[in-house]
Amino acid sequence: MNIEQEYINANALLDGHFLLASGNHSKRYLQSAKVLEDPKRAELICNALANTIEASGIKIDTVCAPALGGVLAGYELARSLGVRSIFVEKKDGGMELRRGFEVQKGENILICEDIITTGGSAMKAAKAIEELGANVVAFASLANRGFCKREGSTLEAKEECKLSSKIPFFALDDFTFEIFTPEECPLCKKGSIAIKPGSSNS
Ligand code: ZN
Repeated sequence: MNIEQEYINANALLDGHFLLASGNHSKRYLQSAKVLEDPKRAELICNALANTIEASGIKIDTVCAPALGGVLAGYELARSLGVRSIFVEKKDGGMELRRGFEVQKGENILICEDIITTGGSAMKAAKAIEELGANVVAFASLANRGFCKREGSTLEAKEECKLSSKIPFFALDDFTFEIFTPEECPLCKKGSIAIKPGSSNS
């Protein structure tokens, strides 16, 4: 699975001048909702991710996604793994399980995002699940923005990574785009204006 090619084919790997949620600027941006727009492509990608997770031998009972960004990837990954799919939602700076979803004590949960940047939302989801007595046994995302260490990659975790290093993280590839502070941004220096690519979650 060449995940970068799938993003390109789906017009989900954007070139331009982007203002990220962190306040920094970038020339490239992954619009992960777009890569899941075609259900056939979503199935193909999530099957590849499920194969990687299954090869690890880790037993997963349920996939839990932080809403909204992770919901589609989480649902499709759960289908590939043949397990239950639930999601948590934002509340007071954290996340909580609503809508009648439940987890059992000792249940093995995988937290799934569309993309992991620093892993902040994934860790909030993990905290909500652990507080209910279930076990968070893995993290997964389609793409890793290169701040956290995924299984099978030589790229080490950076200081910004919030994911627990004790829990394995599965993703299909690393996407390490250069980012610039607004002061150092070469595109700003040419007079271009950075645009928000349409997500608060990057
Ligand atoms: Zn800029």
